[in-house]
Amino acid sequence: MRPPPSPSAPRSITILGATGSVGTSTLAVIAEAPALFRVEAVTAHRNAAELARIAREVNARFAAVADPSAYPELRDALLGTKVEVAGGPAAIVEAARREADLVVGAVVGAAGLMPVLAAVRRGAMIALANKECLVCAGQLLVDAARASGALFLPIDSEHNAIFQALAGSDRDDVERLVLTASGGPFRRLPLAAMEAVTPEEAVRHPNWSMGAKISIDSATMMNKGLEIIEAHHLFDMPESQIDVVVHPQSIVHSLVAFRDGSQLAQLGTPDMRIPIAYALGWPKRLPTTAPRLDLVRAATLTFEAPDETRFPALRLAREALRAGGGTPTILNAANEVAVAGFLRRQIGFLDIARTIERVLASLPATAATTVDDLLALDDEARRAAARSLGAPR
Ligand code: MG
Repeated sequence: MRPPPSPSAPRSITILGATGSVGTSTLAVIAEAPALFRVEAVTAHRNAAELARIAREVNARFAAVADPSAYPELRDALLGTKVEVAGGPAAIVEAARREADLVVGAVVGAAGLMPVLAAVRRGAMIALANKECLVCAGQLLVDAARASGALFLPIDSEHNAIFQALAGSDRDDVERLVLTASGGPFRRLPLAAMEAVTPEEAVRHPNWSMGAKISIDSATMMNKGLEIIEAHHLFDMPESQIDVVVHPQSIVHSLVAFRDGSQLAQLGTPDMRIPIAYALGWPKRLPTTAPRLDLVRAATLTFEAPDETRFPALRLAREALRAGGGTPTILNAANEVAVAGFLRRQIGFLDIARTIERVLASLPATAATTVDDLLALDDEARRAAARSLGAPR
């Protein structure tokens, strides 16, 4: 593992996906300790106005939008400033490649893969929120990190909790990882009623305020399925040793079980600033104004087994991880397309898992290993999923 960085110099930081939910929380953490950070680059998908506002506010050196059609607006909004401006997918990779100690990977979906890979290849610390890129190309990213000395600091709250619980322990002493899951808004809903739920109902997460994609993933529990795959890659743990426990209060963010019978957990209020601050300040802890956990007020913490009949996404993700090769790539791509189809009201809620299952059955298992193989497979799975939705593409 790379040595911890110097605590004295300000840490330079690039935020990929600065206008999204994790990006916003990251900027809030930086605003609470401005002397500790210097922002190198910020990127967004297409929200040029908001990105320009952020770039000015944090005095970024570089700002880029992935959608080329948003570039003129970004350029005009930053006219007369010293901020360098660019547009298109290659500009996001360029942002990741620029010299910065730490890159926050908060792009939504597999679109985050190439920029995250660029940051990994130059040996940066990667504060990773974008689980899809680990699901799509986990082995490739882990191998690249091993070669370059890059370090993943997970921001996903469960993986951040495990990262914290693992600190200082010997890998041989770890018996199991236990991911907690809120169960989402439909934890108690009968299967028949799930057929008719709307996107509005599905994005209403009981505990966390998040973007649309991850909120739908939480409602189907595919989010937890993707997190099993994410944990497998981040912590080098086989699928059979990663458990999921439903914990509706979202106070215990995950646990590590050791071979002596001990279990260590990280607890806190469900506020993304806490895991983000841990990653941004690592190995030091940064102050945050996140609400403090009051165990007396929380009073009752409950745990139950997940229901794979009503939440088939969990089973699909485990099967994909066991199958290995390109299968998780197909799972992730089909899920992204199906979730987008559900948000557009093209398919029903339960059709999300059905679509993924159909796509997995229709594409042959492959041992895709290179970036080109994986991107081609991702594209093929997206086309198959779009056909399955009956969508023109
Ligand atoms: Mg999570």
